Formats: sequence, C-alpha cells, structure tokens
Amino acid sequence: MTPHGHPTTSRRESSLFPLQIQAFLFGITDAFRWMVSNTIQSGVNAMPYVVTEPCRGCKYTDCVVVCPCECFYGDADQLYIDPDSCIDCAACQVECPVEAIFLDTDMPAKWAGYVQLNADRVKMLKSVPDAHVTEKVESSAR
Ligand code: SF4
Ligand code: SF4
Repeated sequence: MTPHGHPTTSRRESSLFPLQIQAFLFGITDAFRWMVSNTIQSGVNAMPYVVTEPCRGCKYTDCVVVCPCECFYGDADQLYIDPDSCIDCAACQVECPVEAIFLDTDMPAKWAGYVQLNADRVKMLKSVPDAHVTEKVESSAR
C-alpha cells in the first residue's frame, strides 16, 4: 500500500499489461498478414481459364485483345492460357467466337486434358521467341 492507501504496483507489473496488449496486437497483425497473403496466393493460382480444342485453327485471336494480364501463348496449333497469370476475369471467354475457353473447374470432360496441356505448353512456350501473343493477329498472319 502507498502512504495514501492505494495498492502498490511494481514497475515490472505495470509494464506487463502493455506488453500483453502489444503481443496481442502483433498476433492480430500476423494473422491479418497471413490471411491477406493467403487470399492473394489463392486468387492468383485458383481456377484459371483454359483454351481447348475448338481453338485449333482460329485465326482471329479476339481473346488476346481483352486479356488484362497478357496470359496468352501460341504455337502452330492454337493458343494457351498461362494459369499463373490468369486472374479469372472471364473477359476472354465471352470474346471467343467458337467457345473454346472454359474455367478449369467447368471443363467439359472430353477436354479435361487441356488444363494440364495449357500449363505445360505455356511453360515451354515462354522460352520461344514470339510465342507470347499480346496483340490481335490478323487472319492472314496465323
Ligand atoms: S478467340 Fe477463341 S478460338 Fe480464337 S484464338 Fe482465342 S481462344 Fe482460340
Ligand atoms: S480470364 Fe481474364 S486474365 Fe484469364 S486469360 Fe481470360 S482475359 Fe486473361
């Protein structure tokens, strides 16, 4: 007790409470940071769109023009979407005149293999000059 009758609190005890609050707040900050990074991570990697068989022979590349992330790569057969860049915006899907583009979770069973094919081909085409298709290609050029 103090001379005035108030209970005493040691310096050690008085600093403990703020430390607990700090630890609590740091815990919240860490948890928040983890949630944000997890959300971004899953947003980047989840449910990319995929180009399938009807694309073979398409000469118009209408899809490429609307993609905000430059996801498209192409070879002599067709285009492919980079699953690591696709943000699932669906802009390309509505532009494709032959309905060749599907969300990977909404894929017709007969084209299920195109999910892996897109990922594999993009990985390979990234090292091929001019395979990254970022602008509309006129019909005579493809
Ligand atoms: S518009 Fe459709 S068919 Fe044409 S290049 Fe794009 S994905 Fe392929
Ligand atoms: S869904 Fe959007 S980000 Fe993904 S390939 Fe199509 S246009 Fe590009």
